[in-house]
Amino acid sequence: MSAKTKKAKPKVSKTEATKRVGKILPILKKQYPDAKTELEYGTPLQLLICTILSAQCTDVRVNEVSRELFKKYENAEDFANADLTGLELDIKSTGFFRNKAKNIKAACQVIIDKYAKKVPGTIHELTSLPGVGRKTANVILSNAFGIPAISCDTHVIRLSRRLALSDNDDPVKLEFDLAEIVPQKDWSVFSHTIILHGRRVCKARKPDCENCLISEFCPSANRPDFW
Ligand code: SF4
Repeated sequence: MSAKTKKAKPKVSKTEATKRVGKILPILKKQYPDAKTELEYGTPLQLLICTILSAQCTDVRVNEVSRELFKKYENAEDFANADLTGLELDIKSTGFFRNKAKNIKAACQVIIDKYAKKVPGTIHELTSLPGVGRKTANVILSNAFGIPAISCDTHVIRLSRRLALSDNDDPVKLEFDLAEIVPQKDWSVFSHTIILHGRRVCKARKPDCENCLISEFCPSANRPDFW
């Protein structure tokens, strides 16, 4: 068996996972004191648009596109009334642009019709918008409204597995598992710091365990068979 061959990991113990969170979270908070989304936005609506654009796209590219986009479309009505083909062209470089343009227009129409032109501030209302799943909704809740929320993106999924915090890699099941082992007041800071740690240290192909400040508590440290 090669070193890279995956082994079945031991089943996650919720008690151990809770203890592990208690050890790693203070370290991550200290390491990434200003952790928040790297998407650039000024209003909840702009964050909603950026988050829809960020599917399968880097934050850097989204920020490049959105800087120009927000000069052209200033509010929900501008997006809802936008010419579909024109909007597709404006966001084309973020990928999946046809679907994203359709969802942006439709979501903005619902915001106008049902929510008095304001992005709603509950998970239930946000996930009722076209193109908005729990991951997007949680990004908006935590960053735009300051409401504790865990957003399970690819980094949170990968690091939760490596750190043995959950057996689930389905994002919704994982979110509920994490909500049980992370104190509610820390939900947002947990996901923001884990995302940064995943981007900078615990990368998908080659985690830098040698320079990882939480390696002491990580069951996958220097274990390529667990990555
Ligand atoms: S020790 Fe390695 S696998 Fe564990 S979190 Fe750090 S970089 Fe990732």
